[in-house]
Amino acid sequence: MSLNIPDVKKTVMCRGERFRLYLDKETIQRRVEELGREISRAYEGKRPILIGVLNGAFIFLADLMRAIDIDCEVDFLKLSSYGAQKISSGVVHELKKIDAPIEGRHVIVVEDIVDTGLSMRFIIEKMREYRPASVRTATLLHKYEATRVDVELDYVGFRIENLFVIGYGLDYGQLGRNLPEIYILDED
Ligand code: 5GP
Repeated sequence: MSLNIPDVKKTVMCRGERFRLYLDKETIQRRVEELGREISRAYEGKRPILIGVLNGAFIFLADLMRAIDIDCEVDFLKLSSYGAQKISSGVVHELKKIDAPIEGRHVIVVEDIVDTGLSMRFIIEKMREYRPASVRTATLLHKYEATRVDVELDYVGFRIENLFVIGYGLDYGQLGRNLPEIYILDED
Protein backbone atom coordinates (compact mmCIF):
# COMPACT_ATOMS: atom_id res chain seq x y z
CA MET A 1 0.00 0.00 0.00
CA SER A 2 1.43 3.38 -0.89
CA LEU A 3 1.02 6.33 1.40
CA ASN A 4 -0.80 9.23 -0.14
CA ILE A 5 1.02 12.27 1.21
CA PRO A 6 -0.36 15.39 -0.46
CA ASP A 7 2.17 17.91 -1.75
CA VAL A 8 2.37 21.00 0.39
CA LYS A 9 2.41 24.01 -1.89
CA LYS A 10 5.53 26.14 -1.39
CA THR A 11 3.78 29.23 -2.71
CA VAL A 12 0.13 30.16 -3.20
CA MET A 13 -1.59 33.05 -4.96
CA CYS A 14 -4.34 34.90 -3.10
CA ARG A 15 -6.12 37.90 -4.62
CA GLY A 16 -3.30 38.29 -7.14
CA GLU A 17 -0.50 38.32 -4.54
CA ARG A 18 2.09 35.62 -3.94
CA PHE A 19 2.53 34.09 -0.49
CA ARG A 20 5.24 31.60 0.53
CA LEU A 21 4.98 28.70 2.98
CA TYR A 22 5.91 29.88 6.47
CA LEU A 23 4.62 27.36 9.06
CA ASP A 24 3.66 23.85 8.02
CA LYS A 25 0.86 21.75 9.52
CA GLU A 26 3.09 19.63 11.77
CA THR A 27 4.89 22.67 13.20
CA ILE A 28 1.59 24.38 13.96
CA GLN A 29 0.05 21.24 15.47
CA ARG A 30 3.05 20.52 17.71
CA ARG A 31 3.02 24.06 19.11
CA VAL A 32 -0.76 24.09 19.61
CA GLU A 33 -0.48 20.83 21.56
CA GLU A 34 2.24 22.36 23.76
CA LEU A 35 0.03 25.37 24.47
CA GLY A 36 -2.89 23.05 25.28
CA ARG A 37 -0.76 21.14 27.77
CA GLU A 38 0.45 24.39 29.40
CA ILE A 39 -3.11 25.67 29.74
CA SER A 40 -4.33 22.33 31.13
CA ARG A 41 -1.64 22.43 33.82
CA ALA A 42 -2.22 26.09 34.71
CA TYR A 43 -6.04 25.80 34.95
CA GLU A 44 -6.44 22.41 36.66
CA GLY A 45 -9.71 22.51 38.66
CA LYS A 46 -10.67 25.98 37.33
CA ARG A 47 -12.90 25.26 34.26
CA PRO A 48 -11.67 28.19 32.10
CA ILE A 49 -13.79 29.71 29.34
CA LEU A 50 -12.04 30.30 26.03
CA ILE A 51 -13.29 33.40 24.23
CA GLY A 52 -12.48 33.11 20.53
CA VAL A 53 -12.18 36.22 18.42
CA LEU A 54 -14.07 35.78 15.13
CA ASN A 55 -13.49 35.15 12.38
CA GLY A 56 -9.76 34.44 12.29
CA ALA A 57 -9.33 32.47 15.53
CA PHE A 58 -11.89 29.74 14.87
CA ILE A 59 -9.45 27.14 13.53
CA PHE A 60 -6.75 27.78 16.14
CA LEU A 61 -9.38 27.74 18.87
CA ALA A 62 -10.83 24.42 17.65
CA ASP A 63 -7.39 22.78 17.73
CA LEU A 64 -6.35 24.44 20.99
CA MET A 65 -9.53 23.36 22.76
CA ARG A 66 -8.97 19.74 21.69
CA ALA A 67 -5.41 19.95 23.07
CA ILE A 68 -6.77 20.94 26.51
CA ASP A 69 -7.60 17.92 28.64
CA ILE A 70 -9.39 19.60 31.57
CA ASP A 71 -13.01 20.85 31.62
CA CYS A 72 -13.32 24.07 29.62
CA GLU A 73 -16.02 26.08 27.86
CA VAL A 74 -16.12 28.26 24.77
CA ASP A 75 -17.78 31.43 23.51
CA PHE A 76 -17.04 33.93 20.75
CA LEU A 77 -16.93 37.64 20.10
CA LYS A 78 -16.43 39.44 16.85
CA LEU A 79 -14.53 42.62 16.07
CA SER A 80 -14.40 44.77 12.97
CA SER A 81 -11.78 43.42 10.57
CA TYR A 82 -9.16 44.70 8.12
CA GLY A 83 -11.61 44.20 5.23
CA ALA A 84 -9.44 43.61 2.18
CA GLN A 85 -6.56 45.73 3.54
CA LYS A 86 -3.23 44.37 4.74
CA ILE A 87 -2.57 47.20 7.19
CA SER A 88 -4.33 47.60 10.53
CA SER A 89 -6.76 50.52 10.49
CA GLY A 90 -6.12 51.13 14.19
CA VAL A 91 -9.89 51.44 14.81
CA VAL A 92 -11.59 48.58 16.63
CA HIS A 93 -15.36 48.02 16.94
CA GLU A 94 -17.24 45.21 18.63
CA LEU A 95 -19.60 43.55 16.12
CA LYS A 96 -20.78 40.62 18.26
CA LYS A 97 -20.72 40.45 22.04
CA ILE A 98 -20.19 37.29 24.06
CA ASP A 99 -23.33 35.48 25.27
CA ALA A 100 -21.85 33.57 28.22
CA PRO A 101 -21.93 35.19 31.66
CA ILE A 102 -18.27 35.46 32.65
CA GLU A 103 -18.47 37.22 36.00
CA GLY A 104 -16.20 35.31 38.39
CA ARG A 105 -14.93 33.04 35.58
CA HIS A 106 -11.39 32.39 34.37
CA VAL A 107 -11.29 33.82 30.85
CA ILE A 108 -8.72 33.05 28.17
CA VAL A 109 -9.04 35.33 25.13
CA VAL A 110 -7.97 33.41 22.00
CA GLU A 111 -6.74 35.42 19.00
CA ASP A 112 -5.26 34.27 15.71
CA ILE A 113 -2.69 37.07 15.56
CA VAL A 114 -1.59 40.12 17.51
CA ASP A 115 -0.29 42.88 15.26
CA THR A 116 -0.51 46.42 16.68
CA GLY A 117 -2.07 44.95 19.85
CA LEU A 118 -5.02 47.36 19.70
CA SER A 119 -7.64 44.61 19.26
CA MET A 120 -6.28 42.54 22.13
CA ARG A 121 -6.10 45.56 24.43
CA PHE A 122 -9.67 46.50 23.50
CA ILE A 123 -10.90 42.95 24.22
CA ILE A 124 -9.10 42.71 27.58
CA GLU A 125 -10.70 46.00 28.64
CA LYS A 126 -14.15 44.77 27.49
CA MET A 127 -13.75 41.47 29.36
CA ARG A 128 -12.72 43.25 32.57
CA GLU A 129 -16.05 45.17 32.52
CA TYR A 130 -17.77 41.81 33.20
CA ARG A 131 -15.64 41.26 36.32
CA PRO A 132 -14.17 37.83 35.55
CA ALA A 133 -11.96 36.10 38.14
CA SER A 134 -9.02 36.39 35.73
CA VAL A 135 -8.24 37.28 32.11
CA ARG A 136 -5.34 35.78 30.20
CA THR A 137 -4.55 35.84 26.51
CA ALA A 138 -3.54 33.27 23.93
CA THR A 139 -2.49 34.08 20.38
CA LEU A 140 -1.18 31.76 17.73
CA LEU A 141 0.98 34.47 16.13
CA HIS A 142 2.62 37.62 17.43
CA LYS A 143 4.05 40.24 15.08
CA TYR A 144 6.15 41.59 17.92
CA GLU A 145 7.86 44.34 15.87
CA ALA A 146 4.47 45.82 14.96
CA THR A 147 3.00 45.88 18.46
CA ARG A 148 2.45 49.46 19.54
CA VAL A 149 0.56 49.08 22.81
CA ASP A 150 1.47 47.43 26.05
CA VAL A 151 -0.51 44.21 26.08
CA GLU A 152 0.23 41.10 28.10
CA LEU A 153 0.34 37.92 26.01
CA ASP A 154 0.35 34.81 28.19
CA TYR A 155 0.35 32.02 25.59
CA VAL A 156 2.07 32.76 22.27
CA GLY A 157 2.41 30.16 19.53
CA PHE A 158 4.99 31.86 17.31
CA ARG A 159 6.70 35.27 17.22
CA ILE A 160 6.77 36.15 13.52
CA GLU A 161 8.11 38.67 11.02
CA ASN A 162 6.21 41.87 10.42
CA LEU A 163 4.64 40.70 7.14
CA PHE A 164 1.06 39.84 6.21
CA VAL A 165 0.12 36.16 6.70
CA ILE A 166 -2.79 33.98 5.58
CA GLY A 167 -4.00 30.43 6.20
CA TYR A 168 -5.14 28.36 9.21
CA GLY A 169 -8.08 30.75 9.74
CA LEU A 170 -6.33 33.96 8.68
CA ASP A 171 -7.70 35.65 5.57
CA TYR A 172 -6.93 38.17 2.90
CA GLY A 173 -10.28 39.76 2.02
CA GLN A 174 -12.08 36.61 3.32
CA LEU A 175 -9.95 34.25 1.20
CA GLY A 176 -7.19 31.94 2.33
CA ARG A 177 -8.68 30.86 5.66
CA ASN A 178 -8.97 27.24 4.51
CA LEU A 179 -5.26 26.78 3.81
CA PRO A 180 -4.03 24.18 6.34
CA GLU A 181 -0.61 25.87 6.59
CA ILE A 182 0.37 29.48 7.25
CA TYR A 183 1.74 31.48 4.31
CA ILE A 184 3.52 34.84 4.42
CA LEU A 185 3.51 37.61 1.82
CA ASP A 186 6.36 37.03 -0.62
CA GLU A 187 7.80 40.48 -1.19
CA ASP A 188 10.21 39.41 -3.97
P1 5GP B 1 -4.21 44.36 15.76
O1 5GP B 1 -5.38 45.01 16.43
O2 5GP B 1 -3.30 43.64 16.73
O3 5GP B 1 -3.45 45.34 14.89
O4 5GP B 1 -4.76 43.32 14.73
C1 5GP B 1 -5.39 42.18 15.11
C2 5GP B 1 -6.26 41.63 14.00
O5 5GP B 1 -5.84 42.07 12.71
C3 5GP B 1 -6.15 40.12 13.95
O6 5GP B 1 -7.13 39.52 14.76
C4 5GP B 1 -6.37 39.82 12.49
O7 5GP B 1 -7.75 39.73 12.22
C5 5GP B 1 -5.84 41.02 11.77
N1 5GP B 1 -4.45 40.83 11.31
C6 5GP B 1 -3.32 41.39 11.80
N2 5GP B 1 -2.25 40.99 11.13
C7 5GP B 1 -2.70 40.14 10.18
C8 5GP B 1 -2.04 39.35 9.17
O8 5GP B 1 -0.82 39.34 8.98
N3 5GP B 1 -2.84 38.57 8.42
C9 5GP B 1 -4.20 38.53 8.56
N4 5GP B 1 -4.87 37.72 7.75
N5 5GP B 1 -4.84 39.25 9.50
C10 5GP B 1 -4.10 40.03 10.30
